[in-house]
Amino acid sequence: MVNKLALLGGDPIRQELFPAYNTIGKEEEDAAVRVIRSGILSEYLGAWHDDFYGGTEVRAFEKEWADAYQAKHAVSVNSATSGLYVAVGAAGVGPGDEVIVSPYTMIASATSALVFNGVPVFADVDPGTFNISPATIEPAITKYTKAIVVVHLFGQPADMDGIMALAKKHSLIVIEDCAQVPFASYKGRPVGTLGHMGVFSLNYHKHIHTGEGGVVTTNDDDLAERMRLIRNHAEAVVARKGTTNLVNMIGFNFRLGEIECAMGRTQLQKGHALVDQRRENVGYLEERLKGLPGLKPAPVLDGVEHSYYVHPLLYNRGETGVSRALYVDAIKAELPATSMREKHGVLIGGGYVRPLYWEPIFQEMVGYGDKQCPFKCPHYEGNASYERGLCPNVEEAHLETLITHEMMRPGMSHKDLDDVAQAFEKVSNHLDDLRVQDL
Ligand SMILES: *Cc1c(COP(=O)(O)O)cnc(C)c1O
Repeated sequence: MVNKLALLGGDPIRQELFPAYNTIGKEEEDAAVRVIRSGILSEYLGAWHDDFYGGTEVRAFEKEWADAYQAKHAVSVNSATSGLYVAVGAAGVGPGDEVIVSPYTMIASATSALVFNGVPVFADVDPGTFNISPATIEPAITKYTKAIVVVHLFGQPADMDGIMALAKKHSLIVIEDCAQVPFASYKGRPVGTLGHMGVFSLNYHKHIHTGEGGVVTTNDDDLAERMRLIRNHAEAVVARKGTTNLVNMIGFNFRLGEIECAMGRTQLQKGHALVDQRRENVGYLEERLKGLPGLKPAPVLDGVEHSYYVHPLLYNRGETGVSRALYVDAIKAELPATSMREKHGVLIGGGYVRPLYWEPIFQEMVGYGDKQCPFKCPHYEGNASYERGLCPNVEEAHLETLITHEMMRPGMSHKDLDDVAQAFEKVSNHLDDLRVQDL
């Protein structure tokens, strides 16, 4: 029964777990131990004082990150979510303002506007790249638009030249959500330095990590200082510091600790090589998947280097005659889970997150309190809407055409990748058997 699909009772291609993706090693251990032995796990003070900017490791990490990105400033924070919040706050977003964002992203890309009582306006994505583009952003611009959060989804940079030209024309601040796109480039420039601020994640799901953490890059002195204030109790600092712009100077505690920053320094050094490995694995796999019915790699823009947080594939049901859900189930049945992530099962799925405007916070327009703020707050005169069908390209990708998988991460050998490819080949050779099941 070697040849029968595992989904229909045959033997799977492979049962032995795929190797773990673990970037944490001796260097991180040494870094953590160095900090623990020092006894100083944080040195921040939430007051106007030299320690307002954090301790030795925080500052060294920020300097090294800024240098690696050829950026003037890097501001460390305890997550990319916090990073988006300090960036949107520094941009001056407030009641009555709109922020344009993709609906196909981790939800913090959009809640960052809500936190400052701004209203997210969703622009559709380009159907191949899954990123918002100048063509989809322009119709979403109104006289209330203050900023754009550009998410470089799955590791592919958005069309930043066009977006920055649009932003300049309308005086908008551009925040790049780079959580999925570290060490990528756009026309030779590092992604995360193309907009006004670039937000990175150091969460354990991401390419490099410190468990939890984040960094924001910027070349603007004023934005950098405003982000540092929001990170660390701005309201208690501004008077002594002499800060005159009080907009959004209600601070948080978004500080990243010394241990994480020490580990971040070693992770930063590993980043490029890890991302190169992803590119290489994707290249190998795409070569092997070439010509399979109903499947093709999602296009990559000219002049960009993708960093493959996930590997997106485009599925065409018209060519296979099999629903995407059944096709993905058939692949899953052939392959094992991945070590250290056993509970997530086989790392492949149809679609990505639900389009954000489907979530209750937007459908019911209940944000702060019970009076539908900021959506219906008297300061807001626009009419952002969240009806189903709002972004057809996102909905189509989510429901029909997109397959994402992570079985191309560093640690996967050619033999492992061959097994992945064989699962796709086997399912492709048995589409007839699946069509019967799909009736
Ligand atoms: C992971 C992610 C975030 C949030 O990162 P955290 O560090 O977990 O807060 C934000 N945006 C995108 C696109 C992400 O993938």
